[in-house]
Amino acid sequence: MRATIWALERLGASGRFLSKRIPANYDQRMERPQQLQAHRRLISITLWTVIPSGLIGLCLLALSHTIHAAVSGTSHRLPSTPAGFSLSIPTPRGSLAEPSTPLSSLTASPAPMRTPTFELSVIMPPTPTPYPFFQEPLPPADGQTRALQVPILMYHYISDPPSGADRLRLDLSVRPSMFEAHLQYLRQAGYETVSLSDLIFHLTQGHPLPPRPIVLTFDDGYRDAYEEAFPRLRRYGFRGTFFVLTGRADEGDPRYLSWEQIRQMSEAGMDIQLHGREHVPLSGRDEAFLFYHIIGGKQSIEAHTGRPVRFFAYPASDYDQHLIQFLAGYRFWGAVTTIYGADERLENRFLWPRIRIRGTDDVGTLMWKLSFLK
Ligand SMILES: [Zn+2]
Repeated sequence: MRATIWALERLGASGRFLSKRIPANYDQRMERPQQLQAHRRLISITLWTVIPSGLIGLCLLALSHTIHAAVSGTSHRLPSTPAGFSLSIPTPRGSLAEPSTPLSSLTASPAPMRTPTFELSVIMPPTPTPYPFFQEPLPPADGQTRALQVPILMYHYISDPPSGADRLRLDLSVRPSMFEAHLQYLRQAGYETVSLSDLIFHLTQGHPLPPRPIVLTFDDGYRDAYEEAFPRLRRYGFRGTFFVLTGRADEGDPRYLSWEQIRQMSEAGMDIQLHGREHVPLSGRDEAFLFYHIIGGKQSIEAHTGRPVRFFAYPASDYDQHLIQFLAGYRFWGAVTTIYGADERLENRFLWPRIRIRGTDDVGTLMWKLSFLK
């Protein structure tokens, strides 16, 4: 209060310029000196309260005009302004006062536009999309111990070997006519094809199998699996199990099955399983190498067929304990080798033997090979 009085007095002193406008005989005509002093102070106080009020009013008027210009200007720009570029919209500046309060707090529209959505969509890395694959646990065992001796035949090429083929190629190639003779014999002998999963369901839970079950496997996924084996299997009502190389299909190698052919075969009831991404030995490999070749291949098949890959055929029958643990860890149900025989149990399910069918095997040889089994 004392400070206010002091200020008013000072103002009154500085307001003496008014005395110049007062007539010289003012004191004589009108007032005593004390009254004149009080009058001067009153005038000073009046002037110094009215002038600031006027200035404040002008500021408020200017502020109101500024806000109005900002809002109308922004709303006009919005339709043609890309999202996120709102930050570049200049804030209109008043000539008298810059609004100390952000416009967004006064109006609703500018606030959302200040979110830098455009910058986020460009700078932020894409969210990794998980690429799942089937990891089915083995069907729960019912406690009974079972063993099977179901023949798992192993074919490779079903085609006439090219001229000049080496011994290996000749040994791997069963002529289509001979393959048809094999199927004819198997049907006449009462064999019915089952899948490797059927064997697991029998071993774990006792699911019934046909009286003479057999598994027909085809390694490497050569193109003739689609052109020669597939139509004959369908004609005889048989189901084949094909261990494919996904890298060949990825690259569109014409010597191997394409993804379209694999998909058609799967939809027709053929069982598509994994031989690897490429035909490379897999023993002594580290985790990353195995993941690339095995899980990568498994994901590819499952993505193209929509059906789980549960079994693996070791390329060149090359395996070690680490590889078996890797397969078991990713919940493969089993794996097949080129060891000769027929012996399926849960304990050796990652080392199931097979019966190799050679290019020279006619129906008599096939009968002879099967005769050793129950
Ligand atoms: Zn192979």
